[in-house]
Order: sequence, then structure tokens, then C-alpha cells
Amino acid sequence: MDNVTPKKRREIMQSVKALNTGPELLLRRELHRLGYRYRLHVKTLPGSPDIAFSARRKLIFVHGCFWHSHRGCSRARLPKTNIDFWKAKRASNRKRDARVLRDLVAMGWKVLIVWQCELRDLATSLHKVRHFLECPNAR
Ligand SMILES: [Zn+2]
Repeated sequence: MDNVTPKKRREIMQSVKALNTGPELLLRRELHRLGYRYRLHVKTLPGSPDIAFSARRKLIFVHGCFWHSHRGCSRARLPKTNIDFWKAKRASNRKRDARVLRDLVAMGWKVLIVWQCELRDLATSLHKVRHFLECPNAR
């Protein structure tokens, strides 16, 4: 059913990861320049949130469109081979994302998801993030 070699799969995963690193780094750098202080990949919280603003009790996840099935996004399209493998993998990711979000909200955190594709427009992403951080009523 699944004929991708482990080596090939690792390559695919690494290329997805690499795509996700640059723009996220730019966003974090910009937030830091604006005076925001945060922690990264906080392992003690459900889902190890990518960026945590503890004093504000706010969290940001930067989601890869493919892994987290960004709806309607061209980057989330399934590859033509090994469809069953990718479908199962992403279904379990979606389930985990939903559980993580529920747990964090129950703990009193506010959570913002920033999609990888949104980061192509850094200015708009930054605006969205700042609104989330500054607005007391933001999710
Ligand atoms: Zn997307």
C-alpha cells in the first residue's frame, strides 16, 4: 500500500520542514524587534506551541499547510502516490491538533494559528499576530 522508501519519505519531510523555517524565523525576528518576548517550542504545554507569550497567556502555532491540512490551500494538496499513507497521517495530525487546542483553551490559553502560506505576506501576518497579542478579546 505504501511504497515510499524511508529515505524518500525523510527527504519529503525535510523539504516541508525547510520551507517552514525561513518565514517563521522572519516573523519571530520582527516580533522581537517590536519588543515582544516569547519562548519557543514549549515542551511543557500540549502540542509544544511554537511561540508562547506566557505573561499574556497567548500562544501561536505556525502550521505547515500540508501537514495540518489547510483547507482550500494549494499547498495542502495530496501527492499523487501513497495517498492512503498521507491521508492517514494527516487525519491523525488533525485529530491531535483538535485535542491540543481543546486542552490549551481549557487551561486558559488563547491560541492563534498562523498558516505557512500566510507567511508569504509577512506584513499581513504580522498585523494579524499583533492584533491577536494586543486585543484582549482576540480568541
Ligand atoms: Zn495554506
